[in-house]
Amino acid sequence: MVKKIQMTVPLVEMDGDEMAGVIWQQIKDVLLTPYIDLKTMYYDLSLKNRDDTDDRITIEAAEATRKYRVAVKCATITPNAQRVEEYNLKQMWKSPNGTIRAILDGTVFRRPIIVKNIKPLVGTWERPITIARHAYGDVYKAVEMKTATKGRAELLFTDASGQVSRQVIHDFAGPGTVMAMHNIDDSIKSFARVCFNYALEQKQDLWFATKDTISKKYDHNFKDIFEEMYNQEYQQKFARTGIEYFYTLIDDAVARLVRSKGGFIWACKNYDGDVMSDMIASAFGSLAMMTSVLVSPAGCYEYEAAHGTVTRHYRQYLRGKETSTNPVAILFAWTGALRRRGELDGLSSLRQFATALEQAAVDTIEEGIMTKDLAALAGGKKRIVNTGQFLEAVNARLQVQYSG
Ligand code: NAP
Ligand code: MG
Repeated sequence: MVKKIQMTVPLVEMDGDEMAGVIWQQIKDVLLTPYIDLKTMYYDLSLKNRDDTDDRITIEAAEATRKYRVAVKCATITPNAQRVEEYNLKQMWKSPNGTIRAILDGTVFRRPIIVKNIKPLVGTWERPITIARHAYGDVYKAVEMKTATKGRAELLFTDASGQVSRQVIHDFAGPGTVMAMHNIDDSIKSFARVCFNYALEQKQDLWFATKDTISKKYDHNFKDIFEEMYNQEYQQKFARTGIEYFYTLIDDAVARLVRSKGGFIWACKNYDGDVMSDMIASAFGSLAMMTSVLVSPAGCYEYEAAHGTVTRHYRQYLRGKETSTNPVAILFAWTGALRRRGELDGLSSLRQFATALEQAAVDTIEEGIMTKDLAALAGGKKRIVNTGQFLEAVNARLQVQYSG
């Protein structure tokens, strides 16, 4: 074995739960520590440790991410009532992703991992489409009400001086429902900034779409903020990079998207991003082939897989059964973080290793060696293997390049 690649600055490692946690360790053992002198600040975000530390560990991990700027996170259980019982929890702790997102104030970018033998359901798509989802407000922070009788619903705002402005929403003749949503200009601005910067860095066009013709104040505000920032700060940078910013109505965006070749970033409002990222993931193949990175306005990056802890497979694993769980998205979370560390620290060997490891995983699948979930989607010859065998097959390809 040749000398291991040295790291200079650690990355923040957030360990997690169940099958994702098992694969986490396997990836480190088989594909990372034999090649890299892996330096991490380790935070155990498994549910038991979050409970033991009253969830302080999650906050510490997010704060460390602000300090070190690069993190890799394993999938974690977001507890519900059944998990509270299963793990005998002190309380129903909040979603770690939600806590981390609130501290870093980020935008989540999700991109499918493309392999030749899995054809997207949309025949024209040649390159991945990245969804950038705004993660604040709208329907997720809405206040809503059911009205039981006839009556008037009004929108009322009291400004800092006590001045009240009001608008009639509807005069109800009978029962109905009412909802009020909000968003904050600062949050929309940081969303726009992160999207423009990410597009420049990835050298890909940026699309943004809302329904501003109908929502003349709310959605229009998003459109205006993007447009103003683009005109003032980004137009020339985009021109120099040879990329475009493109705004259109959301229904037009959907129609264009399914006829496009892919290869761009689509910025979406919170709800649109929630729905569209599932559409993109399924149309490209599966959540197990989807990367996800949280990018903060301050330039911090947290890489993860888009799928969860894969509980059903973990139950089988606990019964001593081999599982054919797909480790690719978790592997790409690691390579994303290592490449970023390499870029920030000027370590070309680390960057090259990340790319070589990704290529080895893609080659393995394209040669027909894959986990069960992909076999259902892939064309051509295929051999279904379990997770350990898959990682060994990737390692065999990596070794060709990296052993002396
Ligand atoms: P999930 O873990 O994503 O799994 C749902 C199903 O999708 C699995 O049962 C499996 O289908 C398939 N699947 C997902 N990832 C796969 C992979 N890598 N390889 C093969 N198949 C894969 O979602 P869930 O079961 O709804 O959630 C389980 C736990 O994860 C929950 O406690 C939830 O809170 C947590 N979660 C965490 C995150 C996160 O930390 N980012 C995100 C989502 C969910 P089959 O069973 O058909 O094989
Ligand atoms: Mg969703």
